Amino acid sequence: MNYQQFYIDGEWVSSSGTETIDVLNPATDEVIDKVSAATTEDVDRAVKAAKKAFPSWSALTVAERASYFKKLKQALKDNLGTLADLMTAELGATTRFSHDVQVTMSINEMEATIRAAETYQFDHYIRDALVTAEPIGVVACISPWNYPLNQIQRKISPALLAGNTVVVKPATETPLTALYFAKLIDEVGFPAGVFNILTGSGSKVGTGIASHPDVDVISFTGSTEVGEKLYAAGSKGIKKIILELGGKSPMLLLPGGSIKTAVKKTLGTIINNQGQSCSALTRLIVPKDDLKAVQEELLAQLKDVKIGDPTLEDTDLGPVVSAKQEETVLGYIAKGKEEGATILTGGNKVDCPGHYIEPTVFVDVKNDMTIAQEEIFGPVLTVIPYESVEEGITISNDTTYGLSGAVVGPDEDEAVAIARKIRTGNVMVNEGAVTADSPFGGYKESGIGHEKGVYGFEDYLNIKAILR
Ligand code: NAP
Ligand code: MG
Repeated sequence: MNYQQFYIDGEWVSSSGTETIDVLNPATDEVIDKVSAATTEDVDRAVKAAKKAFPSWSALTVAERASYFKKLKQALKDNLGTLADLMTAELGATTRFSHDVQVTMSINEMEATIRAAETYQFDHYIRDALVTAEPIGVVACISPWNYPLNQIQRKISPALLAGNTVVVKPATETPLTALYFAKLIDEVGFPAGVFNILTGSGSKVGTGIASHPDVDVISFTGSTEVGEKLYAAGSKGIKKIILELGGKSPMLLLPGGSIKTAVKKTLGTIINNQGQSCSALTRLIVPKDDLKAVQEELLAQLKDVKIGDPTLEDTDLGPVVSAKQEETVLGYIAKGKEEGATILTGGNKVDCPGHYIEPTVFVDVKNDMTIAQEEIFGPVLTVIPYESVEEGITISNDTTYGLSGAVVGPDEDEAVAIARKIRTGNVMVNEGAVTADSPFGGYKESGIGHEKGVYGFEDYLNIKAILR
């Protein structure tokens, strides 16, 4: 496949410029391939194609639009291995995680969104008013590198099923998976202009798409810093904005709760994907009296974590995505030490080629330390003790973020009551886990709007009242 092309108006086309960007494998630092950097002209061409396709695509029935997605879902299944390998090569996630979680999640979530679209009630009456839901127009989809397929799937499935058209800009670190996804979309035979994708830097291409006057919705997943910029960009022309941003999510262990469960759940999010998940439970908040037992359990569960080549079957932890990410994560580890936190385990770069960082646990952490407040996006955990449950809840909520969280306690009803007090969009209780249909979205600086299932679908609709 030629990754140096864009997919615009139903065709693979070359950039009007000549600049290319190397795509690196973080396990080896080798160049895997290169992509083209789009120009302003390319951006304009893609947005115009999406705008032109909108009237006919939005006029189709949901069943007709869903028929394309059923084929696309099958194509994802048929290409699961290829997609997983590509993702592992450019992201560094283990093949196991890419295959069993990343791509599989995309298939399941696409299916859930098809279900949401097919069962959605587009028309209903409020007394004499006919209330109807309609697609909005052209959606700019700007995605991060940590889930290179699913962050795109979560946008284009609801946006297109609702009848909008899209222009996608994937993250510069992971454009190959995105372009391969585009190849599958092309093969399914979606009408020309409905789906368009181009590659290039966020500062140029991302900004270009988001601020294009013919774009009606900006759907962005990424850092809060860039989210703020796009919020401002969207104010010009009053674009609708959907933001899925960062997190610093708490795992609150209640007195008497299963230490094993709390530690296992937390470490899952720190080890899988090298901790590069927006919903990672990066603050483990525990009763002071349990601190020692929690530390012992952390060490026991980390003992057998295997770091290394992400393509090997028994590897648990691969490299972080890039040299830049490695530097950021190591910078936070240094900052943690400087601020007086103690390293229980890890803390170092692994001495080998590639961007490997040991799983790192900080104890003696106070919630106002930088490592407890800022998103590190690497395999780094902070453990924070509390005296009373009230204080545990306060610490959980003492962050500018509000994405995810978890509560583990001996009494499920009590744990649910406490989950209600956590100011985040998702809270898992004990063994509870997210599903393909459950809504996902942030409170506070973690975002605006939702992804997945019916709530994700509704974000791509306008509401009209017809009065007669
Ligand atoms: P990022 O730097 O914010 O970039 C995200 C996307 O925005 C990339 O495609 C990037 O392009 C583009 N971009 C950068 N600057 C831009 C600008 N000025 N205007 C328009 N687009 C711009 O985030 P990242 O480093 O890729 O990903 C990590 C972040 O994403 C973390 O903060 C994480 O929490 C967040 N995240 C959130 C969720 C969620 O659902 N809430 C999910 C996953 C990740 P380039 O790649 O070219 O820079
Ligand atoms: Mg970036």
